[in-house]
Amino acid sequence: MAAQREWFEKDYYRILGVSENASQKEIKSAYRKLSRQYHPDANPGDVAAEERFKEVSAAYDVLGDPEKRKEYDEVRRLGPMAGGFGAGGPGGGPGATFRFDDIGDLGDILGGMFGRRRAGGARRGTGPHRGQDLETDLHLSFDDAVHGVTTTVHLTSEAVCSTCHGSGARPGTTPHTCPRCGGRGVLAENQGFFSFSTPCDVCGGRGYTIDDPCPTCRGSGVEHRPREVKVRIPAGVRDGQRIRLRGRGGPGRNGGPPGDLYVTVRVAPHPLFGRRGDDLTITVPITFPEATLGADIAVPTLDGGSVTVRIPPGTRSGRTFRVRGKGVHTKKSKGDLLVTVEVAVPQKLSAAERKAVEALAAASDGQSPRAHLGV
Ligand SMILES: [Zn+2]
Ligand SMILES: [Zn+2]
Repeated sequence: MAAQREWFEKDYYRILGVSENASQKEIKSAYRKLSRQYHPDANPGDVAAEERFKEVSAAYDVLGDPEKRKEYDEVRRLGPMAGGFGAGGPGGGPGATFRFDDIGDLGDILGGMFGRRRAGGARRGTGPHRGQDLETDLHLSFDDAVHGVTTTVHLTSEAVCSTCHGSGARPGTTPHTCPRCGGRGVLAENQGFFSFSTPCDVCGGRGYTIDDPCPTCRGSGVEHRPREVKVRIPAGVRDGQRIRLRGRGGPGRNGGPPGDLYVTVRVAPHPLFGRRGDDLTITVPITFPEATLGADIAVPTLDGGSVTVRIPPGTRSGRTFRVRGKGVHTKKSKGDLLVTVEVAVPQKLSAAERKAVEALAAASDGQSPRAHLGV
C-alpha cells in the first residue's frame, strides 16, 4: 500500500539515471553500479548515502521486475491526479485519506487501469460521479442589484429525472437491492498494495439494480429539461459578478454529489444613477448663478427620496460632492452618493436674460479667464 502511493511521487527512472525506454539489462546494470556506489559498507556513517541506497533499491525493486514496471508505467501515465495523491504530500499522514468525491475518480482510474471491473458487461462510467458545474446569466434591474433580491433562474440542464425521481426504475416497479454489494454500492478491495473501496461492478455504485428502466431517462435517473432554481442575490452585486450556488448544478450520479451552479449577474443601467463599486453616481445640472453664488440644491436618492447638497460659491463645472451613506448598502459596507455638478449653458435666452448676460460680460470686461494663455 505504502509502496504504491510512492509510485505517484517518485520517478524511479530518474533515481536509477536511465531513460523510460531503458531495457531490463540497462536497468540492471545501472542499479548494480549505483548500489555499489552508495552501499552502506562503502559509506560508513554517511546518512545521505544510506538514503540514496534505499531509494535505488526501491526503484530497482519495481523497475527490475517487468510486471511491476508495467504497472508503474501505467500509474505514472495517468499523470497528476488532481486532488488525489499529489496534493496530500508524502507519507501516510492526512494526505492518505481520500475525500468522498475522490472515490469515484479513483475507482474509475483503477478500474480502467486493471480492467477487471469493466469485465462481465459492466456499464461504463460507473461509480459515484459529481454532477456537472453549470453556468447561466441572470439579468437584474439596477434597483434589485443594489438592494438584493430573491428571484428565479431558468435554465435547461441535466436534472433529476421527473418521471422516476432519480431512481432510474419505471414507475410502479421497484429497484432491487444489489446482490453483489448488498446495497452498499461499494466493494472493499484489497489488492495487497491498494486497499480502499471501489464502486460495485454489478450496480455501478448505486446499491440497487433495475430490472425495468424508466422510459424517460433510460435508467440513468437524470434527464435534460428546463429547470427553475431559486437564488438569493445579496445586496450590492455588481454587473458581471459571478455567484456560486453550491450543489445547484447538475445532479450527481450513483450517489455522487451534485455540481455547482454559477450565475453571472447582468445589471441593467439606471436612467439617473451609475455605480462605482459601492458608491452611486449622479450628474446634476446647476445654473451659472448657482455655481457662481452658491446654492442649496435637491438631489434625488435611489430610494425615491432626496438630499440637499450645498454648492459653495465659485463651484466649477465637473466638481463632485460626496453624500455619505447614500450609496449601496451591503452587509460589509455603506457606499456614498457621488454628486457631480455640471454648469448648464442655456440654449435659448429671453430678452431679459440676454440683457443680463450682456451686462455681466460688460462688467467683467478685461478679466478674461484665458489671460494666462498669453494670446
Ligand atoms: Zn427516470
Ligand atoms: Zn452493488
